[in-house]
Amino acid sequence: MDTLTTPATTASIDPSSLRAAIVRKLTYDLGRSSQSASDHAWFVATALAIRERFVDRWIATNRLAYESGAKQVYYLSLEFMIGRLLRDSIDNLGLTEAVNDALAPLGVTLERMRQAEPDAALGNGGLGRLAACFLESMASLGIPAFGYGIRYDHGLFRQVIADGWQHEYPEDWLACGNPWEFAKPEIAHEIGFGGAAVPLGADPLGPHRWQPAETVLAVAYDTPIVGWRGRSMTTLRLWSARAPDPLLLEAFNKGDHVGAIAHRARLESISKVLYPGDETTAGQELRLRQQYFFASAALQDLIRRHLRVYQDLSSLPDKVAIQLNDTHPAIAVAELMRLCIDQHGVAWDDAWDITRRTIAYTNHTLLPEALESWPVWMMEKVLPRHMQIIYLINARHLEDVRTRFPKDDRLVASVSLIHENMERRVRMAHLAFIGSHRTNGVSALHTELLKRTVFHDLDRVAPGRIVGITNGISFRRWLFQANRPLASLIEQTIGPRFRDDAEALAALRPRADDAGLQAAVAAVKRRNKQALADMLKRDLGVRLDPGALFDVHIKRIHEYKRQLLNLLETIALYDAIKADPGAAWVPRVKIFSGKAAASYWRAKLIIRLAHDIGRKVAEDPVVRDLLKVVFIPNYNVSIAEMVIPAADLSEQISTAGMEASGTGNMKLALNGALTIGTRDGATVEMAERIGEENMFLFGLSAEEVTARRAQWVGGAAEIAKSPRLGAVLEALAAGAWSPDDPARYRVLVDSIRGEDRFMLAADFESYWAAQRAADALWRDQAAWQRAAIRNISAMGWFSADRSIAEYAAKVWDIPLPRLPVPAAEPPRPAVPVDAA
Ligand SMILES: *Cc1c(COP(=O)(O)O)cnc(C)c1O
Repeated sequence: MDTLTTPATTASIDPSSLRAAIVRKLTYDLGRSSQSASDHAWFVATALAIRERFVDRWIATNRLAYESGAKQVYYLSLEFMIGRLLRDSIDNLGLTEAVNDALAPLGVTLERMRQAEPDAALGNGGLGRLAACFLESMASLGIPAFGYGIRYDHGLFRQVIADGWQHEYPEDWLACGNPWEFAKPEIAHEIGFGGAAVPLGADPLGPHRWQPAETVLAVAYDTPIVGWRGRSMTTLRLWSARAPDPLLLEAFNKGDHVGAIAHRARLESISKVLYPGDETTAGQELRLRQQYFFASAALQDLIRRHLRVYQDLSSLPDKVAIQLNDTHPAIAVAELMRLCIDQHGVAWDDAWDITRRTIAYTNHTLLPEALESWPVWMMEKVLPRHMQIIYLINARHLEDVRTRFPKDDRLVASVSLIHENMERRVRMAHLAFIGSHRTNGVSALHTELLKRTVFHDLDRVAPGRIVGITNGISFRRWLFQANRPLASLIEQTIGPRFRDDAEALAALRPRADDAGLQAAVAAVKRRNKQALADMLKRDLGVRLDPGALFDVHIKRIHEYKRQLLNLLETIALYDAIKADPGAAWVPRVKIFSGKAAASYWRAKLIIRLAHDIGRKVAEDPVVRDLLKVVFIPNYNVSIAEMVIPAADLSEQISTAGMEASGTGNMKLALNGALTIGTRDGATVEMAERIGEENMFLFGLSAEEVTARRAQWVGGAAEIAKSPRLGAVLEALAAGAWSPDDPARYRVLVDSIRGEDRFMLAADFESYWAAQRAADALWRDQAAWQRAAIRNISAMGWFSADRSIAEYAAKVWDIPLPRLPVPAAEPPRPAVPVDAA
């Protein structure tokens, strides 16, 4: 039996030296006594002590990458949905036992400390969480990588529900410091805005001098990310905005004390908040400034690092891969051109070659309203030199298209970087596509639809550039840490190999019929449901029966994600129970959690409806033991980690064709929830592996949705066919669910009766039928658990490690390093291994 031979920390750390290190941090770094320290102080002390165990390795990893000439990945993302890091670090270093033993005599538990860590929510949802999973995955696979983003003072707003309505409050994750980060004030890049650019010679393609009207500094803060088994590490480098001058001393001395610091406050507002409201022009401009700020800082930083080793930028594409996470960093295309041409004397054609071969772009949405574009006038004002470069790129691009597709003006207009209708705008997705060598969709269906819709014409112009790489999730976080009991059960059943090779989960499949395993899986689920029920009892005062079916719909609140469809079905179920209370109803708890964008009032109305329904159902003595509706406020990574292991049913019911991939669907299935869902995003690929008979799929396919849209069918015809839905909508419209404001939900009902853009009416009956099929299967617990085991066994492919391996092969051209995989048992107490 081999054991792990990597420079592992595990063997070398004994609990008493770790305990001493923690107490030393508490005393000498934090100035607290172990008698009076808060959980948060213990968390910081522990994090600092743990951090010491990997800093050497982090520095060594970076140096190694640098000396070996390995290609580096730079992952540019305006969002990183990090969550808490303590358990990540401890688990990936294999220190869980040691930390537990170290803490025990001190009277603190790892669990209490874990909860004292703020949840870093520097993102909105799936896209940001993907970036976080990818950084951990690259660390686990040994791919040298940096994640670049913004160190927002305030991450995603804190959601507070008052009287059923969402209110937003600023989030303050840095209020008590951040023990994971290293401030690097000496790593600071100047970022210019505004002013004018003048050519230095006669050649319009040649270098220009850009004199920005103002400059702000981007200062680096590094968070090391530990990979699985501590094999390798990556760096999350977040930029904070700092004014070059702390105050205007002259103004201050003349008595203008506020004016003297206003300038600084304005410049530093760049890294103040995640996603500043974009309803005003000022808000939109701030968002553009954020995008340029971090893209420029990232490029200056990676170029500086490249030039320390290599003579010039011609080797950049061989040594560097830049991945743009959506179009938010797309300005990097123009910025890399500018840096090459204006700063490093590269000729235009060479610069273009370098840019395209270095950059790749991931598309995350087909929704037309989510495709970014910036008014030309705003670009000219904020980034005058970049606007020039974009015009030049476009002129050459269109010239090429005109030559290859003569007399096709429609095509030329469609692939142009500038949108000419009404206000002239720069299409950022086009810029990212044209400026990259690969553009990828995030699931097979999404990639197909990309080629058919938004990028149809670009795909003709540059065939082969679009590839598909289905998203994945970190199994370390979403199984090993979030669901320890399930991970141990799997290990006892099939051995530990799945911890290093997710596909090894397939060994569970033949065991799905094993009654003993079914019972064990059910027992683990029950335990997780009890833990969630305890938490909700404590935090919300609701009482849940862990024997009920936990039906979970957790994600951003959005019309296309169709929380409203679920709520309509909830009302219909309520009506059905009322009509026949004695029937054998399966007790259900409908759990919702999610945030609505601050300006998205329809989504906020849907949240309010969940609360109106929840209240009425809870007050009804006939129904309340059979149906409950719970809304958990302030959805974030930590809440997801609590709810997902406790879910029986996973709601993935987006209008087909609208969810690019989804990753919540993967997390839930991996934890043994059965999916009720549409054939959308990565759910399609999940079904291919899990088998549709182990899921509850329903509704129109993406093609059927498109066909229906073309026919302008609308909701009314479908409602006429479904008395059940008709009654629900009538009651809603009449105010039966909002007696205090009978008109409250009329707009929602009207849009279903009208265009029904999200196909709620069209899908209602098949959704209802799928829900009843779920009830039926639930009554046969053996069959339900068998399906749950089959779900888990099929999820290996959805590991982020597989996604990253695909990026390495199809996009970055990076060979995966061979990492030692332990042949047998990792260094932890032996568990009975059942050789399957
Ligand atoms: C995984 C995750 C998401 C994405 O969920 P989807 O169901 O794919 O939309 C959003 N927010 C958080 C906190 C997550 O962990």
